[in-house]
Amino acid sequence: MKSNLLGLFADEIVKELGTYGFEKYRGQQIAKWMYQQGVSDFNVMTNIPNAKREILIDNFEISRPTITAHQESADKKTSKYLLTFKDGAAVETVLMKQHYGNSVCVSTQVGCAMGCKFCASTLQGVTRNLTAGEIFSQVLHCNNQLMVEQSTVNTIVIMGSGEPLANYDNVLRFIRLCHESYSLNMSYRNITLSTAGIVPGIKRLAEEGIPINLAISLHAPTTEIRSSIMPINNQYDMLSVINAADHYAEKTGRRVTYEYTLIENINDNDEHASALAKLLKGRLASVNLIPVNPVPERGLLRPKKHRVVQFLQSLQAHHINATVRKEMGADIQAACGQLRKKVLEQEESACIK
Ligand code: SAH
Repeated sequence: MKSNLLGLFADEIVKELGTYGFEKYRGQQIAKWMYQQGVSDFNVMTNIPNAKREILIDNFEISRPTITAHQESADKKTSKYLLTFKDGAAVETVLMKQHYGNSVCVSTQVGCAMGCKFCASTLQGVTRNLTAGEIFSQVLHCNNQLMVEQSTVNTIVIMGSGEPLANYDNVLRFIRLCHESYSLNMSYRNITLSTAGIVPGIKRLAEEGIPINLAISLHAPTTEIRSSIMPINNQYDMLSVINAADHYAEKTGRRVTYEYTLIENINDNDEHASALAKLLKGRLASVNLIPVNPVPERGLLRPKKHRVVQFLQSLQAHHINATVRKEMGADIQAACGQLRKKVLEQEESACIK
């Protein structure tokens, strides 16, 4: 079996090429082709002599996923891809063209084990973790798409399917790899990681010395409500999550974002808004309200527009920094896991037929 170089740091590439007599500087050369040029064919690496290219072709590979499905929003600003890896595992990646640049939302696991009641990614549990190379290949895929318009990915949100802190080592490797100068040279400030609230993971992240943005999926103002929609709250209570996030903010100087999915009659009334404001008062934090993308099998509904506005105003009246997430690509089922689910169901029904 050929050994995959995608996901390795330059010095690790050199080690991997070990006995084949490659000079040390070839590590960075190959890394630049892979990560900056998005190349997966050794033949294209023209600054590497033919004989060495032959060795690479015979023994190594740069493994990239194939595109199984693609949806584009009517305004063409959001593209959602279902990418399939060698073993058949498929994940969603979303490319969003925003006024401040191009943002890509990457998945970190195949499925998810968190069991949040409003999320489609978790309906069938988790199959496996993605490797750092597999997470990185989602960004490369988007960069390849953007090449035609001479553009690149500017920001990365780790908010696709999966719980990133449940796949800690691979996700951290991915983040550090994005930052390397021979790779994307991306500032840590342009990367946001969203977690359902794995307290030990948040504490560990605070010690890494990488000032990425942290987003916490809070979604409720009380522990009772949170437990009823997010089972993880029974393991790590929301107060311990907020404490860990405070510690993160203190260590990194970065403002923490609290994501709050608004669900009709569950967490969207004025009392909920006041309780949320009280909870977050005085913290280096802001709230991002997300009107829920309804998942039909969950029976959870999106509140009416005026409710969303009222909730926002209520938070602002309490001097809480809050915004409503701009809706990108609602017409293409951009909510977590919805495209993957649809394709899997189609495949299943095709099998039955
Ligand atoms: N597991 C991580 C990251 C993936 S989910 C986390 O929980 O944060 C990314 C964000 O999308 C989370 O805030 C999640 O709660 C939210 N989300 C999931 N399904 C949604 C839906 N149907 N509508 C709105 N937001 C949703």
